[in-house]
Amino acid sequence: MSEVTVAQLANVVGIPADLLMEQLADAGIQAKSPEDRISDDEKAKLLLHLRESHGKKKTSTVTAPSKVTLRRKTVSELRQPTSSGRSTLSRASAAPAKTVSVEVRKKRTYVKRTNVESDESKVKQAEEARRALDDQAKERAAIEAEVEARKAAEAAKRQEQEEAEKKAEEEEAAKLAAEAEAKRLAEEEAAREAAKEAKRQEELLKPETAAEPEPAVEAKPAAAEAKAEPSRGKKGRKDSRRDEKGFSDDKKADRKELHVAEGLRGKRKRKPGKQRRAAAAAASDAQHGFQRPTTPVVHEVKIPENITVADLAQRMTIKAAEVIKVLMKMGMMVTINQTLDRDTAILVVEEMGHVPVAQRDEDIEADLLSEEDDAHTQGEQVNRPPVVTIMGHVDHGKTSLLDYIRTSRVAAGEAGGITQHIGAYHVDTDKGTVSFLDTPGHAAFTAMRARGAKVTDIVILVVAADDGVMPQTKEAIQHAKAAEVPLIVAINKIDKEEANPDRVIQELSQEEVIPEDWGGDTMFVRVSAKTGAGIDDLLDAILLQAEVLELQAVEDGPATGSIVESSLDKGRGPVATVLVQSGTLNRGDMIVSGKEFGRVRAMFDEAGRSIKTAGPSIPVVVLGLSGTPEAGDDVRAVSDERRAREIAELRQDKQRSTRLAAQKAAKLDEMFTQMEEGETQTLNVIVKADVQGSVEALKESLVKTSTDEVKVRVVASGVGGINESDANLAVTSNAIIIGFNVRGDAGARRVVEEQGIDMRYYSIIYEIIDDVKKAISGMLSPEIREEIIGLAEVRDVFRNSKLGAIAGCMVLEGMVKRNNPIRVLRDNVVIYEGSLESLRRFKDDVNEVKSGMECGIGVKNYNDVQSGDQIEVFERTEIARTV
Ligand code: GDP
Repeated sequence: MSEVTVAQLANVVGIPADLLMEQLADAGIQAKSPEDRISDDEKAKLLLHLRESHGKKKTSTVTAPSKVTLRRKTVSELRQPTSSGRSTLSRASAAPAKTVSVEVRKKRTYVKRTNVESDESKVKQAEEARRALDDQAKERAAIEAEVEARKAAEAAKRQEQEEAEKKAEEEEAAKLAAEAEAKRLAEEEAAREAAKEAKRQEELLKPETAAEPEPAVEAKPAAAEAKAEPSRGKKGRKDSRRDEKGFSDDKKADRKELHVAEGLRGKRKRKPGKQRRAAAAAASDAQHGFQRPTTPVVHEVKIPENITVADLAQRMTIKAAEVIKVLMKMGMMVTINQTLDRDTAILVVEEMGHVPVAQRDEDIEADLLSEEDDAHTQGEQVNRPPVVTIMGHVDHGKTSLLDYIRTSRVAAGEAGGITQHIGAYHVDTDKGTVSFLDTPGHAAFTAMRARGAKVTDIVILVVAADDGVMPQTKEAIQHAKAAEVPLIVAINKIDKEEANPDRVIQELSQEEVIPEDWGGDTMFVRVSAKTGAGIDDLLDAILLQAEVLELQAVEDGPATGSIVESSLDKGRGPVATVLVQSGTLNRGDMIVSGKEFGRVRAMFDEAGRSIKTAGPSIPVVVLGLSGTPEAGDDVRAVSDERRAREIAELRQDKQRSTRLAAQKAAKLDEMFTQMEEGETQTLNVIVKADVQGSVEALKESLVKTSTDEVKVRVVASGVGGINESDANLAVTSNAIIIGFNVRGDAGARRVVEEQGIDMRYYSIIYEIIDDVKKAISGMLSPEIREEIIGLAEVRDVFRNSKLGAIAGCMVLEGMVKRNNPIRVLRDNVVIYEGSLESLRRFKDDVNEVKSGMECGIGVKNYNDVQSGDQIEVFERTEIARTV
């Protein structure tokens, strides 16, 4: 079919050769004699020319309603190119197209309504004309109408969500009916036009040609253009061509030419086919379908970031094979288990005639959890103990107060058992139970305190009677107020001579913390953590406040709670302190917490006793999680492992992507700051701490100390001792290392010495912040306030009935002094701080033991020393601070 002569073509199309010559000339094609050859390209040109000439004629006859019909078609086409025209993975989503379609629908409806009202006789005419059309045309119209009607229904549904359901339904029905009517009218009108046009053509051309390509081609555009603007008629033409092939005797030539003309838009051709398919289900009853007020087949399909083919099919309640078929048509070969991205999935859903709804990760999580929620919220509310956090300025006696309450309230036999800091514990009094949060936040630092306040019912504000309101006192008040947690003021150290409680009250009233006897609403209690005076009153006040708060929780059913702190234990794996907030946590429960999940392998109370269950407001230590969740993370018991894993993985993914984004931003940030503010300096810091909560608190506090001149950047952080890779990182990033209750191992110390890195150990957060602030302002004095003077390693432990555990040690560095404070380290993490009970060489008590010598060490109040532990002896040297 490459080249034919004019005569041959004329013969093929059945018109006289000279007429064809004329037409060729009109189209600007050179053909001198019937023997001249015409190429396919020229044929295409001729066809285009003919089409255009007729098209022009037609535009004048186009009526407003038909034009609108086409516009609607345009909308769907506009959407289509973005998707199937380009890569199916294209991120240019279909959302905008949807919005447009809503608007267009309205326009169209109105126009047609007028049409309907104004010209009833047209209906009859159209009816006749329609009969003249073949069955396929009818079907096509019906399908289109159905598709349009369906779209309209969806749009209407979305728009009128807020309206009363009944109203919405009525309106929708009305709209549908009008829509369908209008649509049908338009179709009929179009068909009539087309038929007319075809007839006219036939008449015009009869003398010359019975069925030239034109008529067929034109009959099509006629139909299409009657409804559409010429430039958008491709699809319409194609469709109508198919529908009306009966008009042409010469289908082959005709079709061939069409293909040439439209060859460039290969991909677009899919659309009609797809649409057809999408509507196929409804096609059978299409003619009556739009009479119904509802379209039950249309689903709202929730689409997450990624979804497998099988899942997607299930959400549309169709077979996976259907989805695969659609994707194949879009040029994607997929398997049933393949994961599709959201954009692709949205295309598929639209192709299937459903409504895609993008689903955010949070929604999925909420979905997963909501199934559990019923179980969590059902059940009878019972009273629960209050959860209390102690806040206040450093050295005002928070720790002492907690210690006093704990030791005085815990049964004598158990006192020795408390060797581990778990961050929370509960105390039983005659009047009821109180749970205390003893997080690193108690050292007055924002992050943890803010988090602590979330689970806290009551804040105890400790103010030293000899010191008064200090900056952190004010901070604590602000935090409590922000969290809307009631305060109880404990004026501490009233045993001291210089104590002046009235001054404290005075100063607090300036912060709008006013005692009850002054007409305020805050309870004030005078206590001494040293003598124990007033502690009972404080507990009473707490329980009274709790009563006022009417604290309640469901006791039966699955537990929810919060992480107080977590750490990684060499032997036991991740260890997390959980405050149960509602329900009951049982050994063996499957829980999810932050990005971690796992089965509760074992549970302990604050005294280290194994327990099986824990109810509301009770803190427990939990073993069995997949990792260390962060302080403040939620804890939920879930029904099965699969769900727990899903939720945890979802959160991990989310975190990973935010972290990547943050890293990218940080790098850029750095670049820009260096470029723009050549002046700005960065203080890089590596933070290692004993528990996750401290890491978090430190990170946040440190970053906040940044000033305009110096930015503090935490380049790395983590739980556990400082190792060689931390030290190496410090070298490469020119960072200082901060160890909070942790120490550097031998490797780290070697690097630190060789490379001259600044590595500092601390046990009070406040001091770290203080030092960093000073470093920033260039005021930090180089002296170390706390100097480690000796280090001994425990080689063996002996039990002595009189002295308790005696650690047989080798002094590794410096010297061990009898009267200096010490710390016990395990895996370079501080596990105990205190003083020595005894120091012996052989049978003799001695005052100091030098490096390289063996000795026996008894640690005061601590019997849990193990072989392999290290005992660090330090000295606090007062250094006059320059402020
Ligand atoms: P924190 O920093 O708020 O936790 O304060 P600490 O509990 O560490 O106490 C700081 C200092 O104040 C310690 O030396 C305590 O011995 C001392 N201290 C705490 N409470 C009292 C008290 O009621 N009376 C006296 N005299 N000293 C106290």
